[in-house]
Order: sequence, then structure tokens, then C-alpha cells
Amino acid sequence: MSEPDGKQPSRRSWAEPYKIKVVEPLKMTTPEQRRRAIAEAGFNTFLLRSEDVYIDLLTDSGTGAMSDNQWAGMMLGDEAYAGSRNFYNLEATVREYYGFRHVIPTHQGRGAEHILSQIAVHDGDFVPGNMYFTTTRLHQELAGGQFVDVVIDEAHDPENEHPFKGNVDLDKLKRLIDKVGAKRIPYFCLHTTVNMGGGQPVSMDNIRETSHLCHNHGIRVFLDATRAVENAYFIKVRDAAFHDVSIVAILLQICSFADGCTMSGKKDCLVNIGGFLALNDDDLADEARNMVVIYEGLHTYGGMAGRDMEAMARGIVESVQFDHVRARVGQVEYLGERLIQAGVPVMRPVGGHGVFVDAKAFLPHVPQSQFPAQALAAALYVDSGVRGMERGAVSAGRDAITGENRLPKLELVRLTLPRRVYTQAHMDVTAESIVDLWDKRDRICGLEFTYEPKYLRFFRARFKPTIGAEILRDQDAPTPGAQPSTTR
Ligand SMILES: *Cc1c(COP(=O)(O)O)cnc(C)c1O
Repeated sequence: MSEPDGKQPSRRSWAEPYKIKVVEPLKMTTPEQRRRAIAEAGFNTFLLRSEDVYIDLLTDSGTGAMSDNQWAGMMLGDEAYAGSRNFYNLEATVREYYGFRHVIPTHQGRGAEHILSQIAVHDGDFVPGNMYFTTTRLHQELAGGQFVDVVIDEAHDPENEHPFKGNVDLDKLKRLIDKVGAKRIPYFCLHTTVNMGGGQPVSMDNIRETSHLCHNHGIRVFLDATRAVENAYFIKVRDAAFHDVSIVAILLQICSFADGCTMSGKKDCLVNIGGFLALNDDDLADEARNMVVIYEGLHTYGGMAGRDMEAMARGIVESVQFDHVRARVGQVEYLGERLIQAGVPVMRPVGGHGVFVDAKAFLPHVPQSQFPAQALAAALYVDSGVRGMERGAVSAGRDAITGENRLPKLELVRLTLPRRVYTQAHMDVTAESIVDLWDKRDRICGLEFTYEPKYLRFFRARFKPTIGAEILRDQDAPTPGAQPSTTR
């Protein structure tokens, strides 16, 4: 069924390029059980027990299903402390598909970010990027740097249909270079795709131009290659010049414009744990290996078991198959289309790894200071047991210098699809619940903190409803002190 030109088949329906061999039963819960569970979790979906969740769309990180070939590879783990054969297989695979010379395994993506930030960023430096990512920015800040967002303005507009909404605004980047000087910019952090912007891709032209601009000023370019395969897919289907080019070739071309990458293997690489730092520069790689032995493990395992490196190497090979990535992104698009057809406000166009519901437009009666996306995620769980996550003011945290709450333009609930885990029927149940909530959105109120952790607060923060005790009020319940709704 694969279409060599990369277009979606227009008439024939199509399905996943795999069948199910092992199943994991799900617990069905009642609304009463879910009300209790979300209150105990402080209205933070991160604090729910997974066994109380019906359809888990919290993240696509480490939640994918491995293939039989990957599981077979797990049995071939060489658990030697040094020089495991699985490391050499991983190294060769990364070289083949990502094209970088040095491969340094880490326990997951943030391990690679930590090492790169520590060896490259110095006090007072600026690190530009096409939107921030939570752990990436924090590691840059902890190393003494300051993140500067130079993504195009369209990325901050949930309704803008730009096909490559993750693109870098070259003028913004030029202005930064003019202002602070290239010497204060250790590298450019290029996200492929942009997670916080809704899984939006970067075009090949923009990658090339960004790379040229940086390299002309002696600034290195490092990819956050976490979802670079999904970015390659979007380039194939959205850029006519690439319709006949394979995912493998596009991925290699993307990487050819960079000096290295950080990778969370838990996403595109189809494993439950793992990551790597890949670099072309010999000296930098040597420094990175010095660091990895302190924080992660020997440079030939970096915090991963041999079997996990084997699974990741095999996952990388599977991840670049066109039929795989089309089914993966296709399922995300299916859920997004169902919501769009029902009039639910979602980020457009639908991105690669999830559907992002625009919580500001969904709950206009909840001010951003009362965390509408956090509230909507909690209400969705109560309604149907579907778990999403907040990507808005709670995730954005406080400004590193002023200590004020950041109030980002995008206030989103992310429904992230694990790879190869759920069926179309699960997507239908999810869509029905969200459409239902859309019809009764007046009954959802805002939240306020009862506990706010210092770092990456969205993971462990606790809240209470601003009105009454329930996040999603019953139809007949009185609305204590309710503000008048502006929604209809
Ligand atoms: C998940 C992720 C990371 C961090 O990787 P971990 O494996 O979770 O440590 C970095 N960047 C992006 C874009 C991610 O999605």
C-alpha cells in the first residue's frame, strides 16, 4: 500500500503496517473513581497512577511498542562493562542513518543535553533555538546560558496553517548575532520537529539557510533530533522537491547541515529508554566522553544496558521505513481531523506526534493565570479516563531572571500518541470525549497552585480548583461563586 510519491492514498483506506501479538489489558474506571483519582493527584495528570488511566496520551516518550525483532535483540544483549557489541551496532546504525561520526550513548535525551550544555555553553552565553524545550532550556540555563527563541512568528499562532511552522526566523537570528556577537553564541539548537509548537516541522530550505548563516559566523548547529524522522516525513509530503526522495535520504540530508545532535531515543527510535549525543568534531567528542563517564556511565554504554542499545539500534532501522512513519503520523492526523471537523480548537496544521488542543480558545472564561490547559487536561481525565498533558503556563515556568510566571502565547493540552500502541477505536473514544467536553466547557473551572516545585514544575506541581472542589461540575450542581461564562 505504500505510495512511492509519499501522498496519502485518497480513496482506499489503509491501516497499520503491523499486527498485534501481545496485549496489555486496560482497567475500566467509573467517573466517581476518576474524580477521586484526579483530586488525589492534585489535578496534575503527571501524578495519576497509570493503572487508573484508560487511554494514555500523556507522552510519546518511551511509551511505544517494540517490534518482535527488537525484543529478539533484547536477548542478544552483551552486558559487558566495556566494549559491548551492542554499542558497536548502535554506533554503526547512528552513523548510517544520522551520518554523524562520534556516537556517545546516554541514559536518555536529557543526559545528552546535559553533557552538550556543560561542554559548549559558558556563563553569559546565548543559545538561540526554534522554540524552547523544557529540559533543553534548563540545561542551557544551568550551564550559564540564556535561551533565545528565534522561531517564526507563525509558530505562536495556533490557527496559522504554515506547512513548516517550526522554521527559524533568519532575521531574528541575524539581529541576535548583531546584538550579542557570534562569540557569545556557542551553538544554535535546531529542533526537528518543534515539540512545544505542536510537533511542527522545519523545511529543508530553512535548515540549510539556518546552517549557512550560523556557519558563516562560526556558530555550530546542533539538532535536537528527537523527532527528526517525523520531520523528514513532513518534508517528503509537503515539499514537492522531496516527494520522490526516501525518508532515509531526507534524514541524512537534514543531519548533513548540523555538527551533531542530541537524541531522546524514547521517541523516534522506538525504545522505552535510551538516548545519545552524536558529534562530528573530534575534540568536542573527546570532551563529551570525559563528561559521560562522570554522569552517565562508560562511553560505550552511557547508562544503557547492552540489550537496550541493541533495541535502539534495531528501532532506528524500523523508524525510517516510510510505511511506519506514515502510519504513525497518519494516526495523529486522524485524531486531529475528527476534532477539527467537530469545531474543537486545535493547533493547525496537526503536527507529527500529537494533537494540541488550544485551551485558551476552549476555555475563554478561564484566565491564563488559572492555567486553562492544566484544567482541561484534568477535566478530560474525569470525563473519559484519557490522559493528556499541559503545555502552557505551568510548563513554561518562571523567568530565570525576574522570577515572574511566564505566560506563553500557546496554552495547549497535548494529546500525544505512543507509537504502535493504540488503535483507531481508541482515537474515536478520545475524540468523542473531547467533543463532549467542548459542548459542556462552561462546567470546567480554573486551577491554582497548592504546591510549586522549583525546577520543571509541571512534573510534580499540585493544584486545587478555583471554584468548589470539582474540576468538571455536574450539570445540575450549583456553581459556587461562578464567573459569568463568555463562551456562548
Ligand atoms: C523528550 C525530549 C527531550 C528530552 O529527552 P528525554 O529522553 O525525555 O530526556 C528533548 N527534546 C525534545 C524535543 C523532546 O521531546
